[in-house]
Amino acid sequence: MMTQDGETMVGAGFLTPAPWDSLIERCKVLARRYSSAKEILDFYHKILTFQKGLYEEVRGNKEVFAIEEVGARCNVPLLKKGLEVLFPHSPTLLSIVREGPPLLAVMSREVSSWGLMGWETTLEDYRYATHRGQPLFFFPRVLLQPYLQYAMEEVGAYCSPRRIPPEAGLGVASGSSSGDCLRHDNTPLQTKKDDHTQRTDTPLETRCPSCGQRPQVGYLRPIDNASQRLLTCSFCHGEWPYNRLSCPGCGESDSAKLSYFVAEEYPAVRVDICDTCGQYIKTIDLGKDPQAVPVVDELATIPLDLWARERGYEKLELNLVGI
Ligand SMILES: [Zn+2]
Ligand SMILES: [Zn+2]
Repeated sequence: MMTQDGETMVGAGFLTPAPWDSLIERCKVLARRYSSAKEILDFYHKILTFQKGLYEEVRGNKEVFAIEEVGARCNVPLLKKGLEVLFPHSPTLLSIVREGPPLLAVMSREVSSWGLMGWETTLEDYRYATHRGQPLFFFPRVLLQPYLQYAMEEVGAYCSPRRIPPEAGLGVASGSSSGDCLRHDNTPLQTKKDDHTQRTDTPLETRCPSCGQRPQVGYLRPIDNASQRLLTCSFCHGEWPYNRLSCPGCGESDSAKLSYFVAEEYPAVRVDICDTCGQYIKTIDLGKDPQAVPVVDELATIPLDLWARERGYEKLELNLVGI
């Protein structure tokens, strides 16, 4: 389906390759819908607007950014090149963050004393970190995301949903059974099993095929009478198909170890949990909410993170604001 701008509409309302406006617009919508998340969404709105500006600058100065020189994948030379060319924009980012969440605002003072070397060191720490909760990682992620997205579109392109064969990762939804999970107050809480059928040749990459980082969020997009599961990278926003019956954290496929929870107030967002690795990831069902934008809807549903953490599950990858 073609939009008025001539872009291809993928799945149920997901636009690519320029999602910045749809991300920004979704922030506004969800800030009105969920008052508890308004503050964090207003901050993310400012970050996205900053990132959109970087993205447009990169696109408009191809000779300066010269991605072809360093190859298609988000390798070390590409990342260093990105930091080098975007480093002059770091003061603008820091001025936004100073008005943001208290912890990041405090961090921004430390970051303001960094030279380029400090940004590179933090980026390296982020790439190899086993503990993802370090708030300093926010800064290189924000600065590099627009550059990496541009790199994917220019020379990587693996990640673009429009290039993923529609038959990849198809699972035909069927009925679901439920199991009980006890809340701390011992009230039974229903979790469900995803017991649809699944192609056996669906890829099982738990890391982004382009940059090697972990997924931020998953989503289901309807195709005919079936749905396809894709994961969105926490670093470069690339997307790749993934088996619906496996954990994106450890690859577990034993259905006895996997289940999900959906809260009444967020019917299109489910929390996929794995008892083997003890991790969770949210999955946005575009069949239930075609207007959803996975990265933003993930960030707007903080009570689901609290639900998972109260039960001892750890998030597969913290989002941009450290939740
Ligand atoms: Zn990636
Ligand atoms: Zn797992």
